[in-house]
Amino acid sequence: MTKKKYDAIIIGAGIIGNCIAYELALKGFKTLNVDILSGSGFGSTSGSCAVIRLYYSTPEGVALAREGYYYWLDWPRYLNVSDPDGMAYYKNTGAMVFKSEVNNNLVNVMASLDKLGVGYLELSPEDMKKYLPNPDLRAYFPQKLMGDPEFGKPTGERINGAVYVSESGYVSDPKLSTHNVEMAARNVGADFLFNTEVIDILKKERHVSGVALKNGTIIESPVVVNVAGPHSYLINRMAGIEDQMNIKTRALRVEVAHVPSPEGVDWENTGLITSDSDTGVYTRPEIGNHFLIGSEEPKCDPPEYVDPDNYNLDFTDQARTQVMREAMRIPDLPIPNRSQGVVDLYDVSDDWYPIYDKSSLPGFYLAIGTSGNQYKNAPAVGAFMSELIQRCENGMDHDTDPLQYRMKYINHTLNIGFFSRNREINKDSSFSVIG
Ligand SMILES: Cc1cc2nc3c(=O)[nH]c(=O)nc-3n(C[C@H](O)[C@H](O)[C@H](O)COP(=O)(O)OP(=O)(O)OC[C@H]3O[C@@H](n4cnc5c(N)ncnc54)[C@H](O)[C@@H]3O)c2cc1C
Repeated sequence: MTKKKYDAIIIGAGIIGNCIAYELALKGFKTLNVDILSGSGFGSTSGSCAVIRLYYSTPEGVALAREGYYYWLDWPRYLNVSDPDGMAYYKNTGAMVFKSEVNNNLVNVMASLDKLGVGYLELSPEDMKKYLPNPDLRAYFPQKLMGDPEFGKPTGERINGAVYVSESGYVSDPKLSTHNVEMAARNVGADFLFNTEVIDILKKERHVSGVALKNGTIIESPVVVNVAGPHSYLINRMAGIEDQMNIKTRALRVEVAHVPSPEGVDWENTGLITSDSDTGVYTRPEIGNHFLIGSEEPKCDPPEYVDPDNYNLDFTDQARTQVMREAMRIPDLPIPNRSQGVVDLYDVSDDWYPIYDKSSLPGFYLAIGTSGNQYKNAPAVGAFMSELIQRCENGMDHDTDPLQYRMKYINHTLNIGFFSRNREINKDSSFSVIG
């Protein structure tokens, strides 16, 4: 049995695992990322829509997204490396968020944007027509499933308008961006081990002491970080801490549809991000002049919690329902016979806010429960998780005196205790991918 030693082991080489590794390595930690897959970002990060948007229902959500946004603007300088595979880039499109009953007509969202000084425009239904190709702006809420005879029938003459946030867009290639971070981390001394499964979390004298790998190797470290995405709860079980957290995580199966733009519409270059809580879908321009259509988890849709090692990879009615919902808004949208797009997993927490925290096992840390909406925040999370880990290892008690982290781009202090594993369920959450 081989034994190796590191200052910190990170389980997972997705966008968040790699960003934590890079920031820890910058602080002088000798790190190792272990991933069962064959490269960086091959897990749920590869399925990400990589939408970068600043609207969240809480000021903390907005603050973290805004800090993350600046890292993406600054990407090559932040990473300070050149990747032979190329660099991912951020494309600004703007985002239109529809007002509806579901989001309390965006009252909380606008208050949170105001608090953080994020600019936005309030649009009337008439104004919205400038941004969308020949839209139907009638109300359809509450959402229904396709089998419902009322599906697709309007319920009101007009929706209530929208908020347009110009600082919004998407990253060209989430997998490539994760590889970019791997290159940056290696450049400052980090190691990566792929095709390797962690099967146990080791402890010595009630402190984490390393991990056991399926190939029989033991790797020792006083710090282990769970960034295993949809497998996070399984890693917590190995560590024996799952029962000692108030907020739990689970794997949720989701489908994202790609459909062509209406004829004559250059959506790839002129389109924007939409979040339509009236019909229950979000969209993004997709390469190939497509609309990418995801779900905002309307109440009528049954959530599909699954075993992350055994779930259906084929499209079901989910993707088609999303396309039909978007076609209510954009009636010229072509509806292909066969579904195309992505089937993947979210690592969902009980209140759809992430857990960024220590745990009840000294030396074992958590960056989990990212609930389909934390790609955008990954670099900012890497920065504060590395500080959290360094400070806790130096004796800070984050549970009683949580880290107050000064974010460098927006010069704002974020109470990291907000993301505690032991918080009460956040009632201000949308309990959906919107966070
Ligand atoms: C369809 C979809 C759309 C999304 N859209 C957006 C969006 O538009 N904007 C946004 O901000 N966020 C979005 N997200 C969320 C975002 O992609 C995730 O929050 C983020 O990618 C999570 O990164 P991660 O590093 O935590 O996890 P992952 O990328 O899942 O990485 C975890 C890694 O851990 C590895 N692992 C697990 N168990 C083990 C083990 N026992 N041993 C070794 N390795 C292990 C896995 O192989 C995996 O590579 C979306 C997610 C999905 C699925």
